[in-house]
Amino acid sequence: MKLLLVLSLILTAALLLVSFAGAAELAPNELGRVMILEYHKIDYPEERWTRTPENFRRDLETLYAKGYRLINLGDLLDRRITLPAGTTPVVLTFDDSSPGQFRYLESNGNVQIDPKSAVGVLEAFIAEKPDFGRGATFYVLPGASKPNRLFNQPEYEGRKLQYLVSHGYEIGNHTLWHANLAKYPEATVRAQVADAQTWIQRHVPDYRTRTLALPHGVYPTDVSWVLHGSAKGMSYSHDAVLMVSGGPAPSPFSRTFDPVHLPRIQAVERELAYWIGYFDKNPGERFVSDGDATAVTIPTARRDHLRAELPHPLRILERKP
Ligand SMILES: [Zn+2]
Repeated sequence: MKLLLVLSLILTAALLLVSFAGAAELAPNELGRVMILEYHKIDYPEERWTRTPENFRRDLETLYAKGYRLINLGDLLDRRITLPAGTTPVVLTFDDSSPGQFRYLESNGNVQIDPKSAVGVLEAFIAEKPDFGRGATFYVLPGASKPNRLFNQPEYEGRKLQYLVSHGYEIGNHTLWHANLAKYPEATVRAQVADAQTWIQRHVPDYRTRTLALPHGVYPTDVSWVLHGSAKGMSYSHDAVLMVSGGPAPSPFSRTFDPVHLPRIQAVERELAYWIGYFDKNPGERFVSDGDATAVTIPTARRDHLRAELPHPLRILERKP
């Protein structure tokens, strides 16, 4: 009996060592790339623009097991990545405020978040794995027709937007009703962007969207129209414009990081499997945190990829490959 106990202790220690060694393999590289995942519908059945709740949950499990940790897009833009050493940031985005992204269920006068909606799945997973982090940006459509108007439960529109903001999520601008911005003159483009923020502010006073996801991935004639300005008495200012494809984003510390053309990865089976597998095979291309928020750790060989100016004082640490 005693021998068994000793043996099982040795085995456990060996397993722990192996898993620790696995995690420790990733050397810090804060010039590596970052995945910004783009979800649309969370619903049934699984199709081109739909991920089932079960598959979404599986995505989170896979990302967690492989050392990815959630950060908000705003933190990426601010270059404030305060993750433990050896982990990799990942950003979640949800476009179009479709019903399955955030649903409340009522029973006997009780209201609760549908555990099969994206927010329900995410909250349950974060409760189980608090070190996964927290964050996601919801690119909502406040003026769309049904079913994509603010998650399709008019009575809970305000409650949902307030919930997101008070639980560490971001609300993003996706225009008022998903306008194809290439088709419209400046005044219409600006009104689409400003009106979206006005409608969001009806529910969350003073909330300002910090980023914009292009409907259909289509840029307006002049991108400056969606970056800063005002229309109908509402001023807006965006730090980033998100595309609908393009692969992983460059590191925010890299020269090639361009917030006005931020690429995303569509969170469908093929794309996810491809990119997660890609970084498994090419771990040197993945952003890996050094665990030190005051420093940027980069491989010496990639020194010339570092941006010339960084927004706040950061020490630069070089690492030989
Ligand atoms: Zn969209």
